[in-house]
Amino acid sequence: MDWQTLLAKAGYRLSEPRKRIMKLMETAEKPLNPLAIHRILREQGIHLGVVSVYRTLELFFALGLISQVFQADGLVGYLPASFGHHHFIVCQKCQKAVEFSGSEDMRELVQRVQTETRYQVSDHLLQFYGLCPECQALLEAGGNS
Ligand SMILES: [Zn+2]
Ligand SMILES: [Zn+2]
Repeated sequence: MDWQTLLAKAGYRLSEPRKRIMKLMETAEKPLNPLAIHRILREQGIHLGVVSVYRTLELFFALGLISQVFQADGLVGYLPASFGHHHFIVCQKCQKAVEFSGSEDMRELVQRVQTETRYQVSDHLLQFYGLCPECQALLEAGGNS
């Protein structure tokens, strides 16, 4: 099911701002935060308030269309989400992020956390940082960018 259909099924109208942001998000390779989206749209000649961008992202996130990615600078960015259990690995140099399937076995950790804290665990956040293949190759070639 594509985003447009999902939005419609959830009872939301595909307004022009939503369409613009959807188009940007669908192809994003690097996490985009609301301010970045606002800036990109402005460069395309589209003037959309930051608050509208925030609201649209919140809606997409609530519908499961996008995932949150925590950026090294402390900002929260967004990337298209796939269905099921996934996590991101983010390149610390170029910010490019890719998903990997979340097949990790957390039972032991969850058990320990529950015993230690007496909380009941319902979900988790996991994200890796590192160097993407391209940036590794650049480093090996001694290149500076
Ligand atoms: Zn990289
Ligand atoms: Zn996981």
